[in-house]
Amino acid sequence: MAFHDIAGNSRVKKILKLSLQRQRVPNSMLFCGPQGVGKRNAALTLAKALNCLEKTDDACEECLHCRAIHGGNFPDVIEIVAAGDFIKIDQMPIVKQLAYLKPMSGRRRVFLVDEAEKMNEESANSILKVLEEPPLFTHIILITENPAFILQTVKSRCQVLSFSPVSKDEIEQALRDRGYEEEKARIMALLVRGNLEQALGLEWEEIQRRRQEAWELFHALISRGESSLFLRKYAFQKRNVVKEDLEQMLELFSSFCRDFVLMKENGDPALLFNPDYESRIREGEKYLSYEQTLRTLDGIDVAMTSLGRNMNIGLLASALYSRMIG
Ligand SMILES: [Zn+2]
Repeated sequence: MAFHDIAGNSRVKKILKLSLQRQRVPNSMLFCGPQGVGKRNAALTLAKALNCLEKTDDACEECLHCRAIHGGNFPDVIEIVAAGDFIKIDQMPIVKQLAYLKPMSGRRRVFLVDEAEKMNEESANSILKVLEEPPLFTHIILITENPAFILQTVKSRCQVLSFSPVSKDEIEQALRDRGYEEEKARIMALLVRGNLEQALGLEWEEIQRRRQEAWELFHALISRGESSLFLRKYAFQKRNVVKEDLEQMLELFSSFCRDFVLMKENGDPALLFNPDYESRIREGEKYLSYEQTLRTLDGIDVAMTSLGRNMNIGLLASALYSRMIG
């Protein structure tokens, strides 16, 4: 994966490429940011670029070194993964021993530490000296979703790079670049909250099932049909509703509302978010006036924001229900 194959985070990618071009890649780095935004891929691409036989500021993906790193069998690029809940002290000697030895095959030795927040104090302390003064040919990249759990003594020795969630547009573009049809890419981008890896793991049949379910719930609400379906599923549920589940439902509700607006404004049906639902959208939009549609859209926005702030899901679902039914 070259840098341009990693979706979003153009600022971070630019910094990395520049530092490669100037041959000033920091030796101790901390990549932080939410899940699925490309931290590990960026670290691997950086490791390849540091050892690539063809390019100096990116991975060519073709040469012997790039391919070996991709396959996980390049002796100078070593990935450390937690054994269970922790990265234990006995996983660390390899870092201490190899860090000071010249690379065997490549130009640079690169250690990737996944879920670096799982280093316990003992593990972290054992590599402080390496992080503090690594030899020029050694790079250590710590990767974490939870920088708050990284010891300050570790953090202060690293150059920190923050990755941001990838926007819907960027996910959509990345999916289209990978050959997904425009409509599919647009809908998938809605469902994954900036997580490209999740999007790539989604099955289209599963997405269709979720949309079908969302449409049934949404239609029941606006038509005052079996509107309590929504409450039963999200508000009165005894077991905990998964936040991501409601998030996806709300994104889909919002896409239906936006399609209602488009129809009410006599827009081009080709621009529908859900073009394959055109006849349902045309039937459904009659239940809501223009103002009601905008109010509903507003209510969904509020619910999504509250969900982001970890508000109680039952309360939030009840509030949205009253807003849509009231
Ligand atoms: Zn290469």
